[in-house]
Amino acid sequence: MASQGNLILISIIIPVFNEEDAIEPFLRRVAQPAETACRLVGPDMSYELLFVDDGSQDGTYAYLMEARLRQPEIEVVSLSRNFGKDAALTAGLHNARGRVIIPMDVDLQDPPEVLPEMVRHWQSGAEVVNVKRSDRLSDTSSKRISAEWFYKVYNRLAERPIPENVGDFRLLDRVVVDALLNMPERARFMKGLVSWVGFHQETVQAKRELRTAGSSKWRPWPLWNFALDGFAGSTTVPLRIWTYIGSAIALSAFLYSLFLVVRRIVAGTDTPGYTSLMVVMLLFGGINFMALGIMGEYIGRIAAEVRGRPLYIERRSTLRDRSAAKNGL
Ligand code: UDP
Ligand code: MG
Repeated sequence: MASQGNLILISIIIPVFNEEDAIEPFLRRVAQPAETACRLVGPDMSYELLFVDDGSQDGTYAYLMEARLRQPEIEVVSLSRNFGKDAALTAGLHNARGRVIIPMDVDLQDPPEVLPEMVRHWQSGAEVVNVKRSDRLSDTSSKRISAEWFYKVYNRLAERPIPENVGDFRLLDRVVVDALLNMPERARFMKGLVSWVGFHQETVQAKRELRTAGSSKWRPWPLWNFALDGFAGSTTVPLRIWTYIGSAIALSAFLYSLFLVVRRIVAGTDTPGYTSLMVVMLLFGGINFMALGIMGEYIGRIAAEVRGRPLYIERRSTLRDRSAAKNGL
């Protein structure tokens, strides 16, 4: 058992939201591979399991605090309400103390057995080790198909492509985490950010497994908003494309009116142009609204950045308790 006071090599960050049933199986399965991964580097290396309680309403927090008495690797940061997985991960990154940081889902969909392999890649120089899901059979087909489309469209549009089917389960070196934490934006689309910062990245394969307990916390609507965040957070193509579409339409409209005027002069009075009028009006109305919507996407994000609210609020933290105790408070 890794005792406290050793050098913390690995911080495993686990965001949890109403997961009281999933924690126990996770704790049982993660210890051994985490130990093995530490041993690869040295005998006095240890790891921490940094749980971020993302405003759970069930017994998650109580369970964690109780498990912590038996397992000193556990640390708990508890947020004041549900802020969403990405904010919870950011809270984890801020609090992690390890040389390498590995975010994981608590439902064991990310197999802990890959941990040693990830650390091995890190030892041989990788600063980011991505884990690629070799199959997503455990996800529902609608989720699979929408994910596929998301990657396709995103990688066409974004300046820096993101690797397909790579989730949040990845190893990040301390330097990468510091770089991520230095990025000021609020709409945190982690996958986009990690690909943007660069560094030496490698990829290992793993199967995405079935959820052990509880049910998925993702609903289609938040997932869609998440995808929009991804686009608007990392690309300006949707914004710029309207300049071109707009000019193309304006040009053809100009040519068409020229044609109408000439015909009016040459052939005399036209039949009432109700149809063409309506078509043009509707078309332009529609395009206007679309363009406005896209502007709105970006302006909404500008507003959120300008507001400058914190990404999350901590209610309590075992890490803070510890340093308070050290200072005799
Ligand atoms: N999660 C979270 N806050 C949320 C939603 C999810 O911290 O608002 C956590 C959840 O407890 C789990 C991980 O994020 O540890 C992945 O969630 P889930 O398994 O529901 O997502 P899926 O695997 O279906 O994408
Ligand atoms: Mg899951």
